[in-house]
Amino acid sequence: MPPLIPSPETIMQMLKRTSAFREGHFVHPSGKHTAHYFQMPLAFRYYDTARVLAVALSRKFRVDKEIAAMLPKVSIISPSSGGIPVAFGVRDALSAEQIYWAEKEEGKRMFRQYINQGDIRPCIIVDDIIRSGNAIIETIGLVKELGVEIIGFGTIVRFTSAPESFEGIPVKSLVDFDAPTYDSGALCVECRKDAPVEHVRF
Ligand SMILES: [Zn+2]
Repeated sequence: MPPLIPSPETIMQMLKRTSAFREGHFVHPSGKHTAHYFQMPLAFRYYDTARVLAVALSRKFRVDKEIAAMLPKVSIISPSSGGIPVAFGVRDALSAEQIYWAEKEEGKRMFRQYINQGDIRPCIIVDDIIRSGNAIIETIGLVKELGVEIIGFGTIVRFTSAPESFEGIPVKSLVDFDAPTYDSGALCVECRKDAPVEHVRF
């Protein structure tokens, strides 16, 4: 029987196989340089892979007794479009009642109109990847404005430079990714090797 929650190594193999994890020399819009890049929707384009990833993450919540006791009256919330397939997959595996996702409108993260106080069940906030944690922090602000209790956080990949917990609640992740990010080309190891550059949009 395969393990219920695949190891981080197995998850990384899936992300490599689907080209969601890429190695090379990348320049980000912020000007930062890296030798790695995650384009997570490339993993979620394969339904079977998406399902394995979301079910694995859901198991980390299922074994949390406090969360399990609150099901199914729970909402799964994604900070952005990238986390929507994660939210649907986790919802499916946990049989949670609700799914919400935020979007950026004119630079401000928000829910769609007509989502009101009292509508949203206690929530688990999930994303495909947590790089800085800013999207999560903005989403925490949104749900607090609506008076929603937060009971969990989860992501497929968490950069080790991002917070390990928010609001005193640890983030459940399938992979904790640690690799250097260079603030400029002058500091970048790949630049020193004259490695060809790819510019990434996010
Ligand atoms: Zn570089």
